[in-house]
Amino acid sequence: MSGNSSAVTSILDQLSALGHKKVVFCNDPDTGLKAIIAIHDTTLGPALGGTRMLSYATETEALEDVLRLSRSMTYKAAITGLNLGGGKAVIIGDSRKGKSEAMMRSFGRFIQNLNGEFITAEDVGTTTKDMEYIRMETKYVTGVPESIGGMGDPSPTTAKGVFLGIKACVKEVFGTDMLAGRSVVVQGIGNVGEQLVELLRNENVEVFISDINEERLHHIARKYKAKPVEANKVFGLDVDIYAPCALGATVNDVTIPRMKFAIIAGSANNQLADEHVHGKLLLEKNILFAPDYLINAGGLINCYSELTGFGRKRTMQLTENIYQATRNVIKLSKAENIPTILAANRIAEQRIIDIKKIKSSF
Ligand code: NAD
Repeated sequence: MSGNSSAVTSILDQLSALGHKKVVFCNDPDTGLKAIIAIHDTTLGPALGGTRMLSYATETEALEDVLRLSRSMTYKAAITGLNLGGGKAVIIGDSRKGKSEAMMRSFGRFIQNLNGEFITAEDVGTTTKDMEYIRMETKYVTGVPESIGGMGDPSPTTAKGVFLGIKACVKEVFGTDMLAGRSVVVQGIGNVGEQLVELLRNENVEVFISDINEERLHHIARKYKAKPVEANKVFGLDVDIYAPCALGATVNDVTIPRMKFAIIAGSANNQLADEHVHGKLLLEKNILFAPDYLINAGGLINCYSELTGFGRKRTMQLTENIYQATRNVIKLSKAENIPTILAANRIAEQRIIDIKKIKSSF
């Protein structure tokens, strides 16, 4: 009994420390569903976030992931000017063999029970087909296929936002946002990475690429005349910009000392292993970091457009705001001599505080 109650206390302590509103544990023995839905903040609107399906080693690892990711979604929506809160869900299991229609529909029912407080979308380990199954049980899902009224793959919008974030940083460091003649290494040339490579090559940027999938690496290298690099050479490369488009936490104690980059700007979530420690280290090393949750917000904008019925034109306009939003973050970071990630956090938090005041005064 005492063991259980201290476990509950520690979960509630974690929720208080990170500012979460609600966490829902979903268990359906009939379909094998084990999932966690985390709702971080709903001041600006319903909490929107993808559902990730992964074989987490422990339930604690799954909980930590969903808490961290849902908090980032709050900041992403806030700084992008969207009327959405932050949430995320994880399904514990192997996405290649542990999935079924019944499991996804069961998960849809858990979402429905939240009555719109949480809206989900596709993420690592889930597909538009899964979203279609969830849609059979609830309307609180986005990222369904274009054939049934969705906005389709968000990756091109995400890549466009990252590209604009890169431009805003180049303007700061090199005095012009013309990219011709600059050099970039894109780590991870999946859905977003490939689109980014194309945008950069169209501007005559020298592009280096790295991916653990060798076949894809050489295919993309040939297609866009990009230069393949071995994974362990990425951090020592003498190029202007590092664009992480694969995994999180690649900016850490081990990699920062090797870096000669002027700018880090990519699509991966949570690139800094520790936003305080590594944000400060980058500031000291004069490496400009484009806050990941800001410049990769294109995917969220896509979902928002699907929910609100905005068309492609409005989606692109909202994505184009990422350029100015990145410039604003850099300006605040310089004025206060604080890491860009903390400057971004401050802008996002201020919007939530301001809107909370309006809501409580009427
Ligand atoms: P993806 O799965 O299509 O591509 C990821 C690529 O990274 C794959 O080609 C994979 O082989 C490669 N990779 C994995 N580990 C690697 C390693 N150690 N070194 C080099 N390459 C490695 O994913 P995606 O949709 O292109 O998303 C890329 C990143 O951007 C992810 O972190 C994702 O969470 C984030 N993101 C994506 C979107 C979106 O719209 N797709 C939106 C916001 C954030």
